[in-house]
Amino acid sequence: MRVQEHDNAALADTALQNFASRLRGELIRQGDAGYDAARKVYNGMIDKHPALIARCVDVADVIAAVNLARERQLTLAVRGGGHNGPGLGVCDGGLVLDLSRMKGIRVDPAARTVRVEGGCTWGDVDHATHAFGLATPSGFISTTGVGGLTLGGGIGYLARTYGLTIDNLLEVDMVLADGRLVTANAEKYADLFWAVRGGGGNFGVVTSFLFKLHPISTVYGGPMIWPMEQAADLLKFWRDFILDAPEDINGWFAFITVPPAPPFPEQFHMQKMCAVVWCYTGPLDQAEQRFKAIRAFGPPAVDFAGPIPWPVLQSMFDALYPAGLQWYWKADFFRELSDQAVDLHVKYGAQLPTMHSTMHIYPINGAAHRPGRSDTAFSFRDVNFAQVIVGVHPDPSQNERMIAWARDYWLALHAHSAGGAYLNMIMDEGEDMVKAAYRDNYPRLAQIKAAYDQTNLFRMNQNIKPAS
Ligand SMILES: Cc1cc2nc3c(=O)[nH]c(=O)nc-3n(C[C@H](O)[C@H](O)[C@H](O)COP(=O)(O)OP(=O)(O)OC[C@H]3O[C@@H](n4cnc5c(N)ncnc54)[C@H](O)[C@@H]3O)c2cc1C
Repeated sequence: MRVQEHDNAALADTALQNFASRLRGELIRQGDAGYDAARKVYNGMIDKHPALIARCVDVADVIAAVNLARERQLTLAVRGGGHNGPGLGVCDGGLVLDLSRMKGIRVDPAARTVRVEGGCTWGDVDHATHAFGLATPSGFISTTGVGGLTLGGGIGYLARTYGLTIDNLLEVDMVLADGRLVTANAEKYADLFWAVRGGGGNFGVVTSFLFKLHPISTVYGGPMIWPMEQAADLLKFWRDFILDAPEDINGWFAFITVPPAPPFPEQFHMQKMCAVVWCYTGPLDQAEQRFKAIRAFGPPAVDFAGPIPWPVLQSMFDALYPAGLQWYWKADFFRELSDQAVDLHVKYGAQLPTMHSTMHIYPINGAAHRPGRSDTAFSFRDVNFAQVIVGVHPDPSQNERMIAWARDYWLALHAHSAGGAYLNMIMDEGEDMVKAAYRDNYPRLAQIKAAYDQTNLFRMNQNIKPAS
């Protein structure tokens, strides 16, 4: 595909030459060696061709890139970890502002905080904080970018114990559409600080995040896997358990196809099964006792739960999901998981279309319920479960089949849902879905958007339109 005519014309001028000479990082154009590798994002389904990719190395580079995009009216995509499902970290034509070389991390063990630059992945953060026996809530895989995950909310192993990732965010440095760098926290630019806690990349480029840290080092966790025949009973047991469980334990439910490789026992290879992946952060000497009640449900066919260093649990599924697979995402929130919904799950869970395809239900109760629905831009504080259905496969041959499965599954369950969806786990579903996700926070977000980004320069995201 060719870049848009408008972008070509705009780029063939001296502004571009000036930008190129000022940039400390790398500027990659169509035709340059490395262009194809540089435009790729995690989801292999995405195939976009930007005119320029600016690999920024510092805040000055970010300011220069934002100014260029605004002045030359270029489409601008901001890339953190590049994991986004609909590929919002890349664009056709225009400029990709790639943060992946901004990897600075500074842990302050005394204050129990970590300052993280916008290009870090969660693996980078875990590596740095684990040296001090500390961690902050993130997700369930370590290759995801800090940027997109945090700005959308952040649902992970520590959600019931310490809340969402945004509940542990203390401050951001961000470059606004007019090129200004501001620091937003509870006191300064409090409107922006409220908006970035769930509002995605709509308000500017976050060059660094400051997070609260917690004493997390070795936890007790990992997957327990049961035969598919026990799926209905397991779902009901898990639902009742997790709704009442103390906040120091988390476990998410999954339908999986057992990968044909160690450490999985050979007799289960390629079998469709159901699982709960646990993470307990309480005293380790009480873990076996606490897990007796869980194992009493019925001995798991495969039981990998045990003491495990935090970064190992966080990266356990990285190898199973390398970059470049085809991904199709559907999501929903649920207040409850009725017996009727359980039956539907069992029906569609048994039809996983490919080995990598899966359905997860993450609990978002406990500490994640403490903020009210208008305390952060992320609004769904009154639901208990975030569900995600993903069709995943290495090559596009199965796309039609896995997309049909994901849509049918989602549709069947949607009538039982609370509406909206976790915007970090959907494809591009348009404005109505964005409004549904923010509920009554949307008008305030649109006002803040108008105050800081009237022309919608930052629109390659789950877009909030500036209030008119
Ligand atoms: C394998 C996998 C596992 C996942 N697991 C989880 C999970 O456990 N929990 C969870 O909550 N989510 C999870 N997600 C979803 C994830 O949160 C989103 O895909 C998120 O968008 C990824 O962020 P990124 O920085 O990697 O993506 P990118 O594609 O780089 O960016 C995504 C969006 O955020 C914007 N953005 C990124 N960084 C910045 C920044 N610094 N400043 C301004 N805007 C920025 C981009 O412009 C874009 O709109 C997972 C995704 C994948 C693919």
